[in-house]
Amino acid sequence: MTNEKKIKALEEWLPGIKRPLLISGPCSAESEDQVMATALGLKELGIVSVFRAGVWKPRSRPGTFEGVGSIAFEWLKKVKEQTGMLLTVEVANAHHVEEALKNNIDILWIGARTTVNPFYVQEIADVLHGIDIPVIIKNPVNPDITLWAGAIERINKAGVTKIMAAHRGFYSFEKTAYRNPPQWQLPIKLKTLFPTLPIICDPSHICGNTHMLAEVSQKALDLDMDGLMIESHIDPAVALSDAEQQITPAQLRELFSGLSFRKRTSDNIEFQETLEQLRSVVDDIDLELLSTLSKRMEIIEKIGEYKRDHNITILQIERWVEILRTRTLSGESLGLNDKFVKALLDLLHKESIRRQTEIMNSKTTTSQHDEH
Ligand code: PEP
Ligand code: MN
Repeated sequence: MTNEKKIKALEEWLPGIKRPLLISGPCSAESEDQVMATALGLKELGIVSVFRAGVWKPRSRPGTFEGVGSIAFEWLKKVKEQTGMLLTVEVANAHHVEEALKNNIDILWIGARTTVNPFYVQEIADVLHGIDIPVIIKNPVNPDITLWAGAIERINKAGVTKIMAAHRGFYSFEKTAYRNPPQWQLPIKLKTLFPTLPIICDPSHICGNTHMLAEVSQKALDLDMDGLMIESHIDPAVALSDAEQQITPAQLRELFSGLSFRKRTSDNIEFQETLEQLRSVVDDIDLELLSTLSKRMEIIEKIGEYKRDHNITILQIERWVEILRTRTLSGESLGLNDKFVKALLDLLHKESIRRQTEIMNSKTTTSQHDEH
């Protein structure tokens, strides 16, 4: 069995690639005309490095358009010949991988509905064994970092080192403005697990519309993501899948030219020094915060012992409601976001209850005496 190998940085396997890496193309390959017109339109922009197209489409219900299948490879071959863009298609099983490899596809991508299932991911990993073709791994449908990381590890263990993760948002029970609301902290967590792993964002499947694409793309760039995958179609209104979220090549140009590209660091000495000074203030504040929290917990434990010795319940709901109310008000007057303060209080309360429960369970002679 091949062992895990280091995941390569983007520049190592796509040397000279434009940053941010821009992947675009239709949700689905529908016809030769549609594929070619879209690809030629994108080529003209000079900013798209990789052309995407769904060949087999994972649709919720049978009977809807499920992709044209392998015939699309003939069109994609022409795209490569005429535009020089690299090609990527979605693969969801061993057969798809074999077809894609046979047809010289440059990059494979694993969709959200596949990442969610370790059987499928393992099947793909097994056919890829020993073939170091780049693979994009989209996040699973549900916000489960272990599934996402597990898929990356399965593909990596097969010997693939050219792996890229894609954040395409997560299914939500709540009705939101997004089709798949983003959870930006998850790709950040993934980056801490795999520091060299390139991560891109797919604003199209996050938004499910066209008017929020720019905002989400900017957010991804501000979080230092390596690239964007944005769906485009020569005539989105008649697209056979995801019509509401696709944009024309001209709209992609407009979107891209409106984005701000920030650098990771600066050579400016004054900037570096100021940043360092500010960060050292933050370091001190964090230490103060931690020592304040530790003092708070000491008092909480005293209260816990006192409650135990007097046989009083840990949870005092009126007190908790009052804390929530007063602290949120105080936070507000200090310019702190209401949701943030509530989340922080929740965390504090949870820890306080945990500590008091431990104390309650550690009976002292006094408490045993009380019970009689
Ligand atoms: C797609 O890219 O067209 C697609 C089906 O994406 P996802 O797996 O993110 O839903
Ligand atoms: Mn799509």
